[in-house]
Amino acid sequence: MKTIPILGELKTGTTQRHLIKLPGAALADDEPRPVISVAGAKSGPMLFVNAGVHGGEYPAVEAVIRLGKSLDPKKISGTVILMPVLNLPAFRTRTPFVCPVDNVNPNRVFPGDPTGSYSEQMTHALIKEFVVYADTYIDLHGGDIPEALVPFVICRSQDGLADSKARDVAERSKQMAMAFGLPYVLTVSKPIQPSKGSSSYAAAAEKGVPSILAEAGEVGQMHEDAVELLVKGVVNVMRHLGMLVGVKSQIPSSKSQGNSKSQTKTRARRAVDTGEASAAASTLLAKFEWVYTKNAGIWYPKVAAGDFVKEGEQIGTVGDLFGDTLEKIISPVNGVVLFLTINPSVLENGLLMGIGAKQD
Ligand SMILES: [Zn+2]
Repeated sequence: MKTIPILGELKTGTTQRHLIKLPGAALADDEPRPVISVAGAKSGPMLFVNAGVHGGEYPAVEAVIRLGKSLDPKKISGTVILMPVLNLPAFRTRTPFVCPVDNVNPNRVFPGDPTGSYSEQMTHALIKEFVVYADTYIDLHGGDIPEALVPFVICRSQDGLADSKARDVAERSKQMAMAFGLPYVLTVSKPIQPSKGSSSYAAAAEKGVPSILAEAGEVGQMHEDAVELLVKGVVNVMRHLGMLVGVKSQIPSSKSQGNSKSQTKTRARRAVDTGEASAAASTLLAKFEWVYTKNAGIWYPKVAAGDFVKEGEQIGTVGDLFGDTLEKIISPVNGVVLFLTINPSVLENGLLMGIGAKQD
C-alpha cells in the first residue's frame, strides 16, 4: 500500500488519527497538527486534502473534519490523507490571509523554503512531507474573514507548457476541477499576484501531482451549504478517480444551522441542486483579473460576489473620511465577481475583488 513516511504505518481498511510535528526550525515550538488517514480496504490512488492554508476559511476546515468522520475505509479504493488546518497560528488568532508569525501569505510562497521564514518553512514541509507522496492533491479554501465569494475551483492551465508530462498534469487537474462540481472552474497559466513563490496547486503541479484549489464559504462564517459543497466536491473527485466505485454517497446531508439569509446559501443551493458530479454545470473561465484601489479610504462596492460585470462599468467607489470620492473603480473585463472585499476600510493598493473572465 502507498504510504506517507511521516505518518508511520497505515493499516488497510482503517481510519487513523495522527498528531504531526512538521519539520523546520521555525516550526519547532508548534503544537502538533491533526492529520487523519483513511486507508481503503482496496488498493488505489493516494489523495491528499488539506484546508486552513488561510486561517479564517472555516467551511473548508469543517469539510476536512467531516470527511475524516464520514469516509468509510471499507468502501474506498486507495488512501485519503486529511489535514484540517495547515496555518494553525492564523487559525488560533483569527488572522485573515497571512500567517501572523511572519505576516506572509502562505499561498504566495509555495513550494516554500526550508531555510526561509515561518510560512516558507511551513509550505515547504507540506509539499515535502505530504504532497509529493500523493497521486492527487486538493487544497480547500473559501472567502477569508473580510471576503465574500461565489464557489469556484482553480487549477493550472496547459497554456505555455511545452513539456508533455506537465501538459498531462494540467489536463488531469482540469478534469478533477470539473468533477468537483462547483459553479465555476478557472484555469490560470501564471501567478495571480507577483510574489516570491506560487500557490499550492501550481507548486504541486510543478512536482507532477495533479491538483486543484477549491473555494466555498465567505466572511468568516460557518455556512453549512459551503461545507456541504466542499465535502461533496471531494467525494465527486474521489469517484472521478475511481476511489469510490459503486458507492452512491457516503456523506449524509446535514441540516442547515441558520444563516438562512446568506447570499452564499442561495447560490450554493443552486449548485447542490444540480446534483453530484455535475461537471456540465461548471462554467469554464480562463482569466482572473484582480482589482485594487490606489487610495486608502472607505470602499463602497456597487456589486456583490456572483454578479456579472461589464468592461468599463463602474463597480464601486473609494472615498475619504470627509465623504469625498477619491476614486471610481472600473471593471477591466466582462466577467463574474468571484470574490469581493466587503470590509469598508481599505489600504493604499488594497485588493477589492477578483473577476473571473473567459478567454479574450
Ligand atoms: Zn484561502
